[in-house]
Amino acid sequence: MNLILLGAPGAGKGTQAEIICDALGIPAISTGNILRDAVKHQTPLGLEAKQYMDSGDLVPDSIVINILKERIQKDDCKNGFILDGFPRTVPQAEALDQMGVVIDRVIEILVEDDVILTRLSGRRICEDCGASYHLEYNPPKQAGVCDRCGGKLIQRADDVPETIRERLHVYHEQTEPLKNYYYDSGKLIVVEGQEKVEDTSALVRKAVEA
Ligand code: ADP
Ligand code: ZN
Repeated sequence: MNLILLGAPGAGKGTQAEIICDALGIPAISTGNILRDAVKHQTPLGLEAKQYMDSGDLVPDSIVINILKERIQKDDCKNGFILDGFPRTVPQAEALDQMGVVIDRVIEILVEDDVILTRLSGRRICEDCGASYHLEYNPPKQAGVCDRCGGKLIQRADDVPETIRERLHVYHEQTEPLKNYYYDSGKLIVVEGQEKVEDTSALVRKAVEA
């Protein structure tokens, strides 16, 4: 099963992707996590991507398309995968089609912009595994420490209000058109993001099984 999770930054794609990954045993692939890892290790890719990411803009299509192409060729993807944060533009979606990837379902998690602003400004992520938390709504058991791997929780450089607004703007301009792209092929299911992670994941599970 090949799934795409669509939604604005902070809609909860990453969290839901991890939950489906555990349930179905297929990997969750986050281009954002791959890019952040490259930035952290200061690879040539990371050095190029950082400028775009820090200002809330998209990394150029040619770069992310290559990253994704390589990733889905790995062995763990042979039974399918969950894409979190890819595609983000129509050319990226077209590239997936050209790679011969057949998408079974596209699930959009819908959350309003003002809710997203609150969520992202309180978000903290694990430096090591990328797991995401919220200071108020989804705190880790021990402050500053990842429940999953014990890593250190940090605030992402792009989770500050001004950059969040820019990311939302970019989402509405460049990523939302993908809804039509997948709606037309009958693959899109829209799920309303709930306050509680488990309530959203119940809806996502239904959408996966639909
Ligand atoms: P978000 O919480 O904004 O959904 P991600 O972790 O998916 O965050 O992505 C963080 C940043 O990485 C984006 O703002 C963008 O700069 C870059 N990025 C991630 N995936 C893509 C993609 N598919 N195309 C272009 N840029 C991407
Ligand atoms: Zn962790």
